[in-house]
Amino acid sequence: MNEFNDIYVDRLYPYLAMFRIPYFSSGTEKAFANVFLIIDDELMLIDAGPYSPDKSKKLSYALKISGFDIKDISRIVYTHSHPDHMGGGIGLDGYNGIRHCIYWEAKKWVEQYGEYVSSVKSIAKNIFHEQLVLYPEVMDIYFDVVDHFWNPSFGEIQINEELNEGDWISTGKFKFKVISTPGHSPWDISLWEEKNSLLFSGDFLLSKSSTLTGGLNGFGSDLISYESSLKKINNHLNLIKCIYPAHGPAITSFSNLTDSLLAIVKDRENKIVKAISFKNCGLMDLMKVVYPSIDSVIVLARCLGIVLTHLEKLEGESKIYRYKDGDEVRFAIT
Ligand SMILES: [Zn+2]
Repeated sequence: MNEFNDIYVDRLYPYLAMFRIPYFSSGTEKAFANVFLIIDDELMLIDAGPYSPDKSKKLSYALKISGFDIKDISRIVYTHSHPDHMGGGIGLDGYNGIRHCIYWEAKKWVEQYGEYVSSVKSIAKNIFHEQLVLYPEVMDIYFDVVDHFWNPSFGEIQINEELNEGDWISTGKFKFKVISTPGHSPWDISLWEEKNSLLFSGDFLLSKSSTLTGGLNGFGSDLISYESSLKKINNHLNLIKCIYPAHGPAITSFSNLTDSLLAIVKDRENKIVKAISFKNCGLMDLMKVVYPSIDSVIVLARCLGIVLTHLEKLEGESKIYRYKDGDEVRFAIT
């Protein structure tokens, strides 16, 4: 087995390749992020995958398999600023021709990328330390996932183009419309490719449910934005033949995707409100209600973030409030 054995390269069409690059492993668990290569008059990457200390060697390898080199890339468009999609951009600043593009509001945060990652990591740890103080084993697992995910703590990515809602990015024959779809993170974008009716959705639309990470003082997920982005993208879905998310396989059947995702959100919220109405609860009490069986550390960390995101929404709507019971944070109905 060589160091590149777990990278998958799939030439989907003459104009599109998909790279699946590993970014996290714990025991036998592995997580992968997708990178898309648009092959047109100009070569464009949608996301750059995770950071690796070998400075984009994995990305170079995937490009080589596809018949290209990093030097051939004109532009990288980041769907959002998380390290599993943007970390791979660190180390590419030596390739002067590459233009790094992200939603305009993210620019000021991510230019000092290492500092941005470190500060979000410490915010996540502080928030979840308070929530998990009575559950040290769960806290250890959560912190381990956070340490693996929010890295590196150094590095810069110079942003050359700020993207805005409704902007068009042209690669020659193909044009991509920028659609602002916040919710998974504050600055998510999706890209709609007009000619072949494709949508590149980042982490906003995944095949089952979006990952959510808790408010993180404005750096994390926001369910109100997520719900309104789902309603907004629904208007585009009848124009789209295939959705390419930033994790997992393409989504080809999505006639009621937004409705079913909205129903999942509503169902979780109902369970949480019902449990708190019955008895004041801490985060871990609610985890048992919403996710009675979890056998993966990655899923556990994700589900902690999802439940906290719901609690933050309900607090924002003044439906619940939090209080301290000894060391523990608990939630009660207002
Ligand atoms: Zn991701």
